[in-house]
Amino acid sequence: MAHVDKPLGEFPGFALRMNQQDTLSGRWAPAPLLYASAALHVGAAAALLAQPGAWPWALWAVFANHAALAGAGLWPRSQLLGPNWNRLPMRVGMAGGVAITIDDGPDPNVTPQVLDQLDRHHACATFFCVGEQVLLFRDLAQEIVRRGHSIENHSQRHRHNFSLLGPNGISKEISRAQDSIFQVTGSRPEFFRAPAGLRNPFLDPVLARLRLRLASWTRRGFDTVDGNAQSVYRRLANPLRGGDILLLHDGNAARGGDGEPVILEVLPRLLDALNLLELKPVTLRSALP
Ligand SMILES: [Zn+2]
Repeated sequence: MAHVDKPLGEFPGFALRMNQQDTLSGRWAPAPLLYASAALHVGAAAALLAQPGAWPWALWAVFANHAALAGAGLWPRSQLLGPNWNRLPMRVGMAGGVAITIDDGPDPNVTPQVLDQLDRHHACATFFCVGEQVLLFRDLAQEIVRRGHSIENHSQRHRHNFSLLGPNGISKEISRAQDSIFQVTGSRPEFFRAPAGLRNPFLDPVLARLRLRLASWTRRGFDTVDGNAQSVYRRLANPLRGGDILLLHDGNAARGGDGEPVILEVLPRLLDALNLLELKPVTLRSALP
């Protein structure tokens, strides 16, 4: 049974409000679009039985529905397929909290420098780590947690076809990463971010069963493909507001003209700007109710 104990508007989006507590309880509550899709399939089948000549319309309706579902899965910030943190809860945003999230690590060359930059600014961040990388660089993963940051689930292998996997494939990718991260750090992730943010309707029930929340972002720097620190920074910081979830990469980081990973140039600037605006970096899990 869904239980909403927060005022409307505490979380952005209808689906997130309705499903937040169900996600925690391990029960899956389908998003309204999925109910509508199921009803449309039943309706199309009934129409065909009643009037077989209507098959082109039924086929078109089902096709359009699948196109809508695929479109929702290709839109990382969408809440159409289920709850999705694309901003921090309102009370955290009002208090000036901003979440810096750093994906695809740990990386032995980049992550240690990122940790030092965060330390220098007394800032904390959320690392969406890949399970296989955590197993490869165990000390580094432990160091991330030891320094007060959190590690969340970014799948076991970061497969590029993640959004094309069925329920079993998705479940395996996520639960294996849960196990890898827990085994190495002793801390179990509470959030999941899909590789490239792409997903399909099979993801939400898996997350509900594993008691994980989906997290996307408010803005991303595209710093795996753009080595220009100035443009990466602009995408992230124009404007900076309380409640933002910002996305950078320590793994797969693009390199600038000097060969340096672009995050190392962008992150200190971002932390200075947050400081000037009196915004405070927080981890996603510190923003949980
Ligand atoms: Zn990634």
